[in-house]
Amino acid sequence: MRKKIVAGNWKMNTTVAEGIELVNQIIAKIEEIPQQVQLIVNTPFTHLFPISKIIGDIKCPNCRSKLALGAQNCADKEKGAYTGEVAAQMLVSLSKAVGTVVGAPADAVGAPVEYVILGHSERRGYYGETNAILLEKIKQALAAGLKVIYCVGEALEDRKAGRHFDVVGEEIKEVLFALGEEDMKKITVAYEPIWAIGTGETATKEQAQEIHAFIRKSLAEKFGALAQQISILYGGSCKPSNAAELFSQPDIDGGLIGGAALKADDFIAIAKSF
Ligand code: PEP
Repeated sequence: MRKKIVAGNWKMNTTVAEGIELVNQIIAKIEEIPQQVQLIVNTPFTHLFPISKIIGDIKCPNCRSKLALGAQNCADKEKGAYTGEVAAQMLVSLSKAVGTVVGAPADAVGAPVEYVILGHSERRGYYGETNAILLEKIKQALAAGLKVIYCVGEALEDRKAGRHFDVVGEEIKEVLFALGEEDMKKITVAYEPIWAIGTGETATKEQAQEIHAFIRKSLAEKFGALAQQISILYGGSCKPSNAAELFSQPDIDGGLIGGAALKADDFIAIAKSF
C-alpha cells in the first residue's frame, strides 16, 4: 500500500517561538492521527534545530513515528564558497548535534531532518530554479540521505490553454527520469497547480485525479511497477473542508499543505480526512 502523507509547508512564516508552539500543539493531538498517516512539518531552516529536539523527545513510540521533520530547500552543491546556502549534508548532520546543547544528555539525538521540499513553484518562479538546477539539488539531497518531496504544477495560462499535461510531463521527465530506481523510491511527488496555491481556489477532485493519474502513468513509462508505490500528494488551498474528497481519489495519496498547516487544528483535521 502507498504511504499516506500530510506534509505542512510553513514557508517563510512564524518566529522560532511561534514555530515551537505550533509543533507542540500538533504533538498534543498526534494520537488522533491514524497510524498509517505520515505527518511531516517542513519548517524554515532556523526552526529545524529546536524542533528536531522537540520531536526527538516525544515519548510514546507510536506517536513519535507519526511526525517527521523536513526542510524547504537545500543547495545544489555539496559544500564550499556559496554564501547563504545550506547543504543537504548540513541538514542531515543537525539531529546529532542536539546532544551538544547545554543541559541536554550527551547522547541526546533529535529527530532527523528526513525530507526536503524541492521544485516548489515559489522557488521556480521567484528564484529561477530550473529543472536542471532542481535535478542537481535532488541529487545532493539523495546523496546525503534525505527523502525529497518534488513539486510540479502548471500556471493558470497553461491550464487555460490545455498545456497542463505538457508542463507537468516535462517537469517529471526532465528531472525524475534522470534518476535510478533506488533513488526514485525516496521521492514523493506533489502536484500543486500554481493557480490554486494560496488563492483559496482548489482543483476539483476530478481535475486533481486526472493529473495525478497522468503523473503516475508518466512515472510508469520509466519506472514500471514502481510507479504504483510512489505517493503523489495534492497541494493548493487544501483545507479541512475539501481534504476528504480530494484524498478519496485513487491516485491522491495525501496533501502538501501551506496556509492550513499554520493552524494545528486545521493540519490535524486534514490528516484525519483519509
Ligand atoms: C503550498 O504552497 O505548498 C501550498 C499548498 O499552499 P496553500 O495550501 O496555502 O495553497
